[in-house]
Amino acid sequence: MDFRGFLAGALLLAGCANPTGTIEPTTPLAAKDDAAGCSGTGLSVDTAFPSGALSSCEVERSNRVSVLIAPEDEPPINCSPWYAFRLTPAKAGTITIDLGYTACGHRYWPKYSYDGVTWNSVNAKNIAASEVDGIGGTRIEVQSDGRPLFVAAQEIVVPATYDAWLDTVEKKPDVTRFTLGQSAEGRDIEAVRIGNPEAREVIVLVGRQHPPEVTGALAMFPFVEQLLGDDDTARKFRARFQIVAVPLLNPDGVVHGHWRHGTGGMDLNRDWGPFTQPETRLMRDLLEKIDADPGQKLRLFIDFHSTRYDTIYTLTDAQVTDPVGYKDTWLAAYAALLPGYDVRIEPGHNPQLPVSKAWVYDRFGVPTATYEIGDETDRKLIRQLGTAAAQSMMATMLETPTE
Ligand SMILES: [Zn+2]
Repeated sequence: MDFRGFLAGALLLAGCANPTGTIEPTTPLAAKDDAAGCSGTGLSVDTAFPSGALSSCEVERSNRVSVLIAPEDEPPINCSPWYAFRLTPAKAGTITIDLGYTACGHRYWPKYSYDGVTWNSVNAKNIAASEVDGIGGTRIEVQSDGRPLFVAAQEIVVPATYDAWLDTVEKKPDVTRFTLGQSAEGRDIEAVRIGNPEAREVIVLVGRQHPPEVTGALAMFPFVEQLLGDDDTARKFRARFQIVAVPLLNPDGVVHGHWRHGTGGMDLNRDWGPFTQPETRLMRDLLEKIDADPGQKLRLFIDFHSTRYDTIYTLTDAQVTDPVGYKDTWLAAYAALLPGYDVRIEPGHNPQLPVSKAWVYDRFGVPTATYEIGDETDRKLIRQLGTAAAQSMMATMLETPTE
């Protein structure tokens, strides 16, 4: 059986073990055109799947390989060193992998998976620059049962994952799926409209501007699912509002396994203002169209990301919004749903940068937030956080006066 056949079968078998619920790639991880890899006696390494990325590698023995990880273009680049590769061993046993970095150094705790769905953590320790190519790195050990396995910085959440999720989302009541437009490389950027399509009040959500920020996606999925619930709050919310959600704004960067950028060498969340990239222009046009429609009014904008800890970048108290003071009521309700969890809020983060939160506020005067999940936040907790953020958002938005 070739790898793709193996993977397709494994995905079917592993469906029920999927810890993220509805996130399940139903199609094999197809090959891509910029694959790298290496092989030696008893072991080979490749990146021929979406999100696969390494700079170079060398199989030293059948149970030992060194992998060099580099950004997609020249520094300076935000330090989000993504890697994802597949190991194909000839037999079962312990495999030692030295990860070296050309810049930044190690950030994401390595994970491995046989099926691309269920992920396990590995033993890892930092190693000095003298022991590895690049500026230093991490030595990891995986216990292989002899099957090919994926090693990655985070779970592999790629366009096929979103497609499978959107397939389930679009079957729910009050949902219309549509294509917002195309990325620089021509990939469809998918969106869903949830709620009353005639509603005046519109809420816009966006995700995955930054390819490695998988935990933000793991929060956006339950957030959107909560909007689709059949509880009283969700039904009332969908009757009064419409929500446009764009869960994967940077499919090119995700497929190529970029640290930060799209294929235009640009950080998409530093392009809200210049709008040099097709992906950010699609968001600008979506928002401007809402604003230009006398029958519609933008009410809230949330952008999902990941960083080293859970936090919410908000506007400052001095930045008056319509609805007035919304962030305080929303986030107080959010905290109330999460007893024992410390809700961290950082007002005014990066106010001088052309980021989505600042641009949307400056242009439309509505509440905006960058919702950040920690890289290694417990995955079950992430689901709780995404759910609570949506519940509190809906409840507090329903209390605002009708526009
Ligand atoms: Zn980000």
